[in-house]
Amino acid sequence: MKFKEAVTYDDMLLVPQYSDITSRSQVDITSCLGHREFPLPIIASPMDTVSETEMAVAMSRAGGLAVLHRYNSITQQQKMASGAINTLDWSGQVAAAIGVTGDYLERAEALLAVGTDILCIDVAHGHHALVKKALHELRKEYGGDVYIIAGNVCTLDGINDVADWGANAVRCNIGGGSICSTRLVTGHGLPGLQTIFDCARTDREVAIIADGGIRNSGDVVKALAAGADFVMCGSLLAGTSESPGNVITLPTNARVKEYRGMASKDAQLSWRKKSSTPEGVASHIPYKGSVTHVLQGLEGGIKSGLSYSGARNLTELRHKVEWARQTSAGTHESNTHIFSQDGRQK
Ligand code: IMP
Repeated sequence: MKFKEAVTYDDMLLVPQYSDITSRSQVDITSCLGHREFPLPIIASPMDTVSETEMAVAMSRAGGLAVLHRYNSITQQQKMASGAINTLDWSGQVAAAIGVTGDYLERAEALLAVGTDILCIDVAHGHHALVKKALHELRKEYGGDVYIIAGNVCTLDGINDVADWGANAVRCNIGGGSICSTRLVTGHGLPGLQTIFDCARTDREVAIIADGGIRNSGDVVKALAAGADFVMCGSLLAGTSESPGNVITLPTNARVKEYRGMASKDAQLSWRKKSSTPEGVASHIPYKGSVTHVLQGLEGGIKSGLSYSGARNLTELRHKVEWARQTSAGTHESNTHIFSQDGRQK
């Protein structure tokens, strides 16, 4: 039997290179979705504990993007989109998710009518006949006038097919998200970084979005170096003032916010009043304050990352990159090993 080896973020490190970069301000991490330029290559996930109007505004102002979630009525989602677009005026970009069955074409029409810039076909298994049909219908209706993200896929065949069906950008990764139980429930998926290595071999003109499993700026740098144009994040951006939901104070006085997978039992019960075969979990994560600070921290870390590779931009990073595979002892050593990250002794 032949099987492939598959590495993920903790297995790999970027080898430092000669650098003449003296300040992070010399590093430009701008990335593009078609002609649209984003100074910060981070996209907020289409989840009901991550991306509504406030997150869309904050992400756009920080130079990134949010995809408004679709777990609501068309009118509610349209209101979220127009709320963000009024607030942002001409200066921002707003993306919104649609599905592949039911009212998805009406939803697309309603979102585009209020000026949404980008649509995202948001389903778990993107290498699928229903995604092919949805892309066909959308292209028949709007031609090349609408920018479409689709997914998720984790193979070269997957990204090539979804691109050939009409997607401009593809979300890559199946089963690696922090709240995701797809690999446990179905036995399917592929480690997140390997997915990017494989999908980046595409010869199609398509943007690659490394989606899920990104835990820190180091993971972002690895995803970008492996060939991703953007990362998509849920847990890193949830638990902030701009994410939907209230701050809850626990009996321990810890302040938390809800973060849940959109295929979790909780989320399924909320949006379709019944649950079957959940592929996600619901959780609470520490309240982090404003997402703007979280994004500033990530941006600083990503730019430092490029300077360690001697790279002034993402093209140079991919050109110069040298990878090392580390042992599990190396992974252990790569973590802080005197103090844990909250400052307490381990
Ligand atoms: P995180 O950044 O690791 O928290 O992962 C966020 C990503 O997980 C999202 O962008 C989705 O691709 C994915 N996701 C969201 N909800 C679910 C779910 O219920 N099951 C599996 N994957 C999910």
